Amino acid sequence: MNLKKSHEIWISDLTHTEQGIVSRTFPLGASCVYSYAKKNLGKDFNFKLFKFPSKLNEELIKKSPKVLGFSNYKWNFELSYKFAVLAKQRDPELITVWGGPNFPIDLNEKIDFLKKWPAIDFSIELEGELGFVDLIEKLSKYNFKASDLKKNREKIINTCYLHENELVSGPINRIKDVNIVPSPYLNGTLDEFFDQPLIPLFETTRGCPFACAFCADGQASKNKIHRYHPERTKEELNYIAKRIKNMSELMNADLNFGMYKQDVVTANIIRDIQEKYDYPQTVIVATGKNMPQRVIDVASIIKGWQLGASIQSTDESVLKASNRQNITSSAYKKLIDFGNKSNNTKTYTDLMVALPGDTKEKHFNSLRWSIDSNVRSIRMHQSIMLVGTDMASKNTRNNHGLKTKFRTVPGAVGYYEILEKKYPIAEIEEIIIGSNTLSEKDYIECRIMDLFIQTFYNNYLFEEVFALLKSLNVSAFDCMLYINDHPELYSNNVKEIIKDFVSGTIDDLYDTLEEAQQSVLSPDIMVKYIEGKLGYNELLENTVRLFNKFEDSRDLMFKSVKGTLQEKNLFSKDIEKYLNELEKFISIRKNEPLRDIGSIKSMSFSYDFEAIRENDYIINPKSMPLLEEPLRFDFFHDQEQQKYISNQVKMYSAQAEGMGRLLFQSDSRLIFRSFSKSS
Ligand code: SF4
Repeated sequence: MNLKKSHEIWISDLTHTEQGIVSRTFPLGASCVYSYAKKNLGKDFNFKLFKFPSKLNEELIKKSPKVLGFSNYKWNFELSYKFAVLAKQRDPELITVWGGPNFPIDLNEKIDFLKKWPAIDFSIELEGELGFVDLIEKLSKYNFKASDLKKNREKIINTCYLHENELVSGPINRIKDVNIVPSPYLNGTLDEFFDQPLIPLFETTRGCPFACAFCADGQASKNKIHRYHPERTKEELNYIAKRIKNMSELMNADLNFGMYKQDVVTANIIRDIQEKYDYPQTVIVATGKNMPQRVIDVASIIKGWQLGASIQSTDESVLKASNRQNITSSAYKKLIDFGNKSNNTKTYTDLMVALPGDTKEKHFNSLRWSIDSNVRSIRMHQSIMLVGTDMASKNTRNNHGLKTKFRTVPGAVGYYEILEKKYPIAEIEEIIIGSNTLSEKDYIECRIMDLFIQTFYNNYLFEEVFALLKSLNVSAFDCMLYINDHPELYSNNVKEIIKDFVSGTIDDLYDTLEEAQQSVLSPDIMVKYIEGKLGYNELLENTVRLFNKFEDSRDLMFKSVKGTLQEKNLFSKDIEKYLNELEKFISIRKNEPLRDIGSIKSMSFSYDFEAIRENDYIINPKSMPLLEEPLRFDFFHDQEQQKYISNQVKMYSAQAEGMGRLLFQSDSRLIFRSFSKSS
């Protein structure tokens, strides 16, 4: 083949697509590197940006660039690496450059990593812009002969490479004024992505002052915060709002939004845009872990901010082992109380299971604490060993006896065409499933409890039931424990789902990376992954299954509420009557909420549910007697809900694990039917 040599420099931030889009945001990081490089070197080179593997392949068939850059995350490394290997095989002069957090911080581990993956010519750490431009300039000096540059051991900013098995590292340099990076929105770089079901991602700051052991952003070199001019942010957000199509969400990439006084300015910009464009309806941010009053001030300005804080664990020893600093309990409660009072906010917290030092009791305590703090959505995660983090170091593994296994990154498995041939590719990650404080059996029990919380507690599915418990001074977590402790109440469908969940949690795992790769990539196993029989996110998938078996889940919930109250001698005839009505009410509002959008359903009740709603469903049935005449109510999706649902379905149906993510990420109050008295 006659390859057209060119002065092409390509940058890619690939996502898996075979089972739906895995990385569901605009490629912000890669587009910043692209924009900065184009600004500095655009006269001499033709730059291109890619997110989808099919597009990169199309271009690669036509020509070979001088330099091919890849973002390096755990969800795209193998896919990118396959492109790198094949592109280099065809054109040995092609130079590959990598940047992203999926790279070790320890010197020896860096050497091992680069030896293991020889198609990586250069790896850039921290922010990519300075390193990438310095590298291209130095490569130009050597007429793009990487071996000559390496022979001379040229030092390149933020970049390292191997030469004769030794690591050559350049000086570490962070961008002090991030405004030198042209906005990839305002210069049109990201225009093509408005046609895709992707969430616009923007940043107002870079850096994080905290130092969590499990996080790649916890390194000392990333501690200082650098901020963009507010005018630029304003222009970017207006630019996005004018071009957005079929999308309700906006994501902020700041690591601690709301913690700084300048965030008030950003919040006002977003609010103005919301008033003008009716977008975004949901704003996804990582909330600041400090300055709770300021976070509240900022949150009160923006509509649709999912307000919360990542707690990971409430146990002091677990937090200490991860070098984690949490917001104080009182500040956290204040934040959540504020969020719950606002109609436009869904409060959340993130918890991790099996962190160093964790136990079943500590995990359950963290769940109880979150529920008793009235958090509306508890997001429970497995502990993933990220390359380059302190938690993944040999020391931490040994000190805590961490037991880990390997599995595919959910959704990130597929066949991809690269240079006219199809290849099976799978991303593999390492998760903790036990330690010297957490047996494997306890780990499974923690995960089953997570499934119950995710299904029954999160997302407002049974909020009215939990409000009743609250009015009786009973913790909703007691009801979750009741469900957990009474398997005799499970229907056959529920039993089947729990069995599959346990199997997905523990069976679909491998002892080593090599074993995982060998097994997953064999054709008969690949088929199972692609068909979704293996490698799915078992928590999301089985939540959806329990959600779809609405009658089974509802019956289990109501039997457990009754049992919980009986155990505490609080059950009475009045409560029984109210629960009977509530069961019908929840069914008509929440069963199959995405079906028959636009239709109106009606039903009569012996309670005035409009009045009960006014009181956030916190009622004592004794003081709320049955109506003499039943009242009829209509149940429907209003205009705002219909638009939201239509956008959410469009976006999530294009994504891996679409329905699970839709339930997990959306504000269910906009999905469940509204109601009012029939006229
Ligand atoms: S606060 Fe968040 S971003 Fe910062 S180090 Fe901890 S986990 Fe990472």
